[in-house]
Amino acid sequence: MPSVSTTSVEDSARRNLLRYQSVLLQLGAEQDTDFGTFLNRLLKSDSAILGVDRVSFWTFEPDLSVIRCTTLYCAHEDRFSGGEEFSEPETPRYFRALREDLVISADDALRDERTAEFADTYLAEHGISSMLDVPVWRDGRLSGVLCHEHVGPQRIWQPEEQTFALAVGQFISMGLERDERRKTEEALNESEARFAALVESAKDLSLLLLDPDGRVRTGTHRVHGFPVQELAGQPLSSLFTPQDIEEGRLERALEVACREGKFESEGWLLRKDGSRYWGRIVLMPLYRQDGTLRGFVTITRDLTEQRLARDKERLLEETRRSEERQRLLADVSAIVNASLSAQRIIRPAAHVMVNNFAQGCVLTAPRPLRSSGRAPTERRVVAARGERLREELERLSEVFSQRGNWGAWVPEVSRRGRSLLIPKLGDTEINRLAGAEPARALLRELGPGSLLVVPLSARRRVLGSLVLFRGPGETPFGAADLQLAEEVGRRIAFAADNARLYDLARESIRVRDQFLSIAAHEFRTPLTTLKLQLQLVERTLRAVPEAAVPMSERRHVALALRQVTRLGGLVQELLDVSRVSAGMLDLRRDSIDLSALVREVAEIFESEAARAGSTISLSIDENVIGQWDRGRLEQVLTNLLSNALRYGAGKPVEILLRGGPEEVFLIVRDRGIGIAPEDQQRIFGRFERAASARHFGGLGLGLFITRRIVEAHRGTIEVSSQPGEGSTFVVRLPRWAATAGSRERVALGTETTQPAPH
Ligand code: ADP
Repeated sequence: MPSVSTTSVEDSARRNLLRYQSVLLQLGAEQDTDFGTFLNRLLKSDSAILGVDRVSFWTFEPDLSVIRCTTLYCAHEDRFSGGEEFSEPETPRYFRALREDLVISADDALRDERTAEFADTYLAEHGISSMLDVPVWRDGRLSGVLCHEHVGPQRIWQPEEQTFALAVGQFISMGLERDERRKTEEALNESEARFAALVESAKDLSLLLLDPDGRVRTGTHRVHGFPVQELAGQPLSSLFTPQDIEEGRLERALEVACREGKFESEGWLLRKDGSRYWGRIVLMPLYRQDGTLRGFVTITRDLTEQRLARDKERLLEETRRSEERQRLLADVSAIVNASLSAQRIIRPAAHVMVNNFAQGCVLTAPRPLRSSGRAPTERRVVAARGERLREELERLSEVFSQRGNWGAWVPEVSRRGRSLLIPKLGDTEINRLAGAEPARALLRELGPGSLLVVPLSARRRVLGSLVLFRGPGETPFGAADLQLAEEVGRRIAFAADNARLYDLARESIRVRDQFLSIAAHEFRTPLTTLKLQLQLVERTLRAVPEAAVPMSERRHVALALRQVTRLGGLVQELLDVSRVSAGMLDLRRDSIDLSALVREVAEIFESEAARAGSTISLSIDENVIGQWDRGRLEQVLTNLLSNALRYGAGKPVEILLRGGPEEVFLIVRDRGIGIAPEDQQRIFGRFERAASARHFGGLGLGLFITRRIVEAHRGTIEVSSQPGEGSTFVVRLPRWAATAGSRERVALGTETTQPAPH
C-alpha cells in the first residue's frame, strides 16, 4: 500500500513540521536571556526534536581559518561541553563546503567528501555516522556552524529536518547579533559610566553630544554650573559670548571639526548666570557606520583659574621686565651723568648693555676735538659676551667704519634718524644692511640673530649709533626692546652732545688763556722799560731844587709811576692766571719773617690809603717766621690790602697777624661795602667779580690767584662779610714745609708736590 504509506509519511512530516514550528515559536520567545543560556536551551531542544545525540555550535576565529566549539550538547550524557577546534589546513574540504553550501547534509558522514576528513579521528572517536551542519552567517560574514552529529546507524536527513536545522541556524545568528548588541551596549554603558565618573571627578570638564546642526542632545549632567537639561535642544552657541555668536563662531567650529576631524580653541564662555569663564573647547564629529554625520561630541573645560594664574604670571613677568628696564636706564643715567667725556661714557655704557640687554653692542660717538694735538684715542666701543662675537662685531665695525658708522649704512638711521629693528637677520636684511662683501659674509656669520640699530642724535644731528645684537638662541628683539634702546640712545646722545659742547667751551677758554698769556708777555717788556724811565725821572726830579719844578709837575710823574706800577700788577695777574689755570704754581720756599713782610707792604700802601681817605692799622705778633715763598705772600698781602682799600669806602683797614706754633693767621679787615652771601664763594673763582664794573675796576683775578697761592702753601683762605658793613679775609698758613729752601712745583687742588725741573 504505497499510497497509504505515502500518506502516513506525509502525515508524519506534517506533524513534525507542526512540532518544529511550535518549538521555534517557543525559542523565539526566549530572546531576552543571555546568549549562553539561549544557546544551551536551543541546542538541547534541537537535539530532542531531531533525535540527534550530539548538537553543537562552533564559532569561527576572525580570520575564518579555525572553528572552535562554543557549546556541545551530548544527549546521552545530558551534558554541555566545548573547546575542541579544527583548522582549515586539517579539513580544507569541510571549510570550503561551509563557505559554499547552504547546508551540509551528510547521510554517510564517513564517505561524504565534505565530512570524510573527520572520519578517522573525530567521527570514529565519537561513533558518528551522519552529520547535518548549517553554516551561520551574520551581516554577510560567516560566523559559525551549527552541527548535528548522529551516533548509531546511518540516518537520512529529511527535507523538513534540514529546513528546521536552517531555522535553528537562523535563530543562532539572531541570538549572536543580539548578544553582540548587548555586549556593545554594556561596553558603552561601562565606558560611559567610566567617562562620566571621570568627567564628574574633573569638575571643570563638561561633555556634550550635539546634533549635526550643533544643538545639544545630551551631556554630563551639569555643564559649568547648570543642569544639562536646560541646554538640551539649544545650540552650543548659548555658551558663547554675543560677540562670538555674531561672528559665527559655532558655524566655523562645526565646519573646521568636519573638515579637519577636530576643532580646538580657547576663549571666554558664558555660564547660565551670565558670568564669564575662560574655557577651552574641543569639538569632534561623530559618524555612523555608513559614513553619515551623526553629530558632534564637545568637551569644554573651565580654565579660568589657569588663565588667571597665567595672567598673574605674565603680569609678574612684565613687572620684572619693567624693573630690569628701569635698572638698565638708571645704570646708563648714572654713567652718562658721571662724566663729561664721551669716551668715558660710551665704554661703560656698552658694557652695561651687554651685561643686561644684549649679547653684543657697538657704540660709536663723535670724535673728541683734536685741540690738544693728540689723535683721538677711541671713538668706537665694541663689547660682547664672548670673545668670538666681540671679534666678529669688531671686524664688521671696521668694515662699516669706512663709511662712518653702522647707522650710516642704513639711510633711515643715518639721514632720517630713525631706528632699525631686525628681529631675524635673514638674507634680505643682510643684503639691505651690507651691499657688498666682505660685510655681507661677516653679517651672515652673525645670522640669524636679531639686530637693533639706534641713531644717537641730539639737536637734530646724528652723532653716532648704538648697535645691539642678540644671538640666534636668544629671544629676538621686539618693539619694547626697541623703545628701551631708543631711550638709552637718547641719554647717551644727550651726554655725548654735552661732552662735545663742553670740549668746545674748554677749547675756547684755552685759546683765550693762551691769548691773554701772550698779550701779557708782550705788555710786560715795554711796561718795565716805561717804569724804569719814570723812576729815573722821579729820581732826577728829587735832585732838582723844589722851585725849579713845580709841585704839580712832580705829582704828574708820581701819578704816572703809580699807574704804571698798577698796570704792571695787572699784567702780572694775567700772566699768573694762565699758569695757575693750568693747575701748576712754582713755589720757592725760604725762611721768612712774615711780621716784617706785612709791615713793609703796609708801608707801601700808606700813600694809597691816604688817597682813599683811609688808614691802615696793624696788630702784629713779632717774629712770625715760617717757610714760605716771599714773593707769593707779598702778592697775597698786596691783593687783600688793595681790595680792602678799594672796597673799603674810606674807612679804616686793619691787619692782624697771629703766630701759633704750627700755623699763622693773617687777617685783613675793612668796613666797606661788604660782599653778599651768595657771592662769597664765587669771588675766589677766575674772572669772578661781585662789585659793579663801573665803579670799581679790576679783572676779577686777584682773589683767584690769592687762593691758589695760599693753597699751594697748604693753607686756606676764607671770607666773612655783611653787605654794607665790611669784609674780613682770614688766611691760615702752616708754618713749616718738608721742602724748605728748594723750589717746588705744586699741583693745585691735590696734595702732591714734586721738585720743579731746573
Ligand atoms: P678784582 O680785581 O675785581 O678786585 P678780585 O679777585 O680781587 O678781583 O676780587 C673779586 C671780587 O670780589 C671783586 O670784584 C669784588 O666784587 C669782591 N671783593 C674782593 N675784596 C672785597 C672787599 N674787601 N670788599 C668787598 N668786595 C670785595
